[in-house]
Amino acid sequence: MTATLGTTSTTKRTPDLGRAVELVSKEEGHRQPLAPEFVSAEDFSPLEVAYDFGKIRREDIEAGPKNIWRYKNLLPVPSNVEEIPNTEPGGTRLVDARNLAKALGVRKLWVKDDTGNPTHSFKDRVVAVALAAAREFGFTTLCCPSTGNLANAVAAAAARAGWDSVVLIPKTLEKAKILTTAVYDGALIAVDGNYDDVNRLATQLAAENETWAFVNVNVRPYYSEGSKTLAFEVAEQLGWRIPEQIVVPIASGSQLTKVDKGFREFGQLGLVEASPYKVFGAQATGCSPVSAAFRAGHDTVQPVKPDTIARSLAIGNPADGPYVLDVVNRTGGAIEDVSDEEVVEGIRLLARTEGIFTETAGGVTVATAKKLIETGKLDPDAETVLLITGDGLKTLDAVEGKIGPLATVAPSADAVREALRNR
Ligand SMILES: *Cc1c(COP(=O)(O)O)cnc(C)c1O
Repeated sequence: MTATLGTTSTTKRTPDLGRAVELVSKEEGHRQPLAPEFVSAEDFSPLEVAYDFGKIRREDIEAGPKNIWRYKNLLPVPSNVEEIPNTEPGGTRLVDARNLAKALGVRKLWVKDDTGNPTHSFKDRVVAVALAAAREFGFTTLCCPSTGNLANAVAAAAARAGWDSVVLIPKTLEKAKILTTAVYDGALIAVDGNYDDVNRLATQLAAENETWAFVNVNVRPYYSEGSKTLAFEVAEQLGWRIPEQIVVPIASGSQLTKVDKGFREFGQLGLVEASPYKVFGAQATGCSPVSAAFRAGHDTVQPVKPDTIARSLAIGNPADGPYVLDVVNRTGGAIEDVSDEEVVEGIRLLARTEGIFTETAGGVTVATAKKLIETGKLDPDAETVLLITGDGLKTLDAVEGKIGPLATVAPSADAVREALRNR
């Protein structure tokens, strides 16, 4: 009786992952069937999703929903993905940043404002793709180790899908990011350790629990494909063109490598002209292992112990570090890092010039762009896009004590006039 139970209950249908056909190892190109795996058993390198795209037309994309699912045929998700309850991320603004361009002395500058996502960071994109793929593989609980934004996105996406969630965070996380995760009522666990400790713990738990999909661990190849939608949206919003330069923040490095993959796929499919572009990476000096490797001309990354206010980027041992170096070197870009003071300056500069309040990661991107311009690495005459990936309301402590009311006055017009005079 019990002998057959296990076999009958685990009979699974073949996953429908759209036009995705297999996984390929990044180092030696070993191929294997689509499965919830993230490293190649052949060469131990990360696995990446490969597709058989067939024909993909602009008109079909344009006729799709105003969220990431308009690009579903370029993602490892089922063909009816938009019909399954999800947070519908993407479709965020591309802002013509004229004031910031003037302040930085560049000709044409765009800000991709990803604070407009459901939980206010770009992580909603990657999580939505991870959940859709995980569902096809038969998982029922959505999990992650997180530096904050991922925690929000996983907890919210799981709630919307009717799944349970298990979210692991370092206990030192910003209070706002803890509350904005806990509110979705999944299991939130604060760990006495840094992100790299939490990540190790997640890898162990993923191996022990077969119904748990850790979005950035066992289903990481699917998760990371979601970052391509940033590149797709930018290119489509520019009128089906690839920008000449793009500045991308680096945590694990996944987003940067997938933005590059997105531009290449659009070019290969003939959706845009395959024009050259340069990818630039941004880190906080207090956690800048990829920037340090770039500066030293290395092709591998030495792990560091993070110490920066840019906690959403504080990954000391970035999984995609070497591939970030590949992309930046191949495209002729550069990587820079900026101090915590410059990060706060970057946050304030973007707020003051464009009315966009970004979190510390966005401060890193803006400040790095400024530094790249000042050091002549970023061409001020080339069209540039900055990826602003998260919302300032989650990292209020970064600006606390540095900004505030001009004055506290009695309720009289005279007092207000006086305060303004002294500005
Ligand atoms: C996670 C994150 C990134 C980049 O993450 P990668 O691991 O490099 O893909 C960028 N910005 C914000 C706000 C993030 O939360």
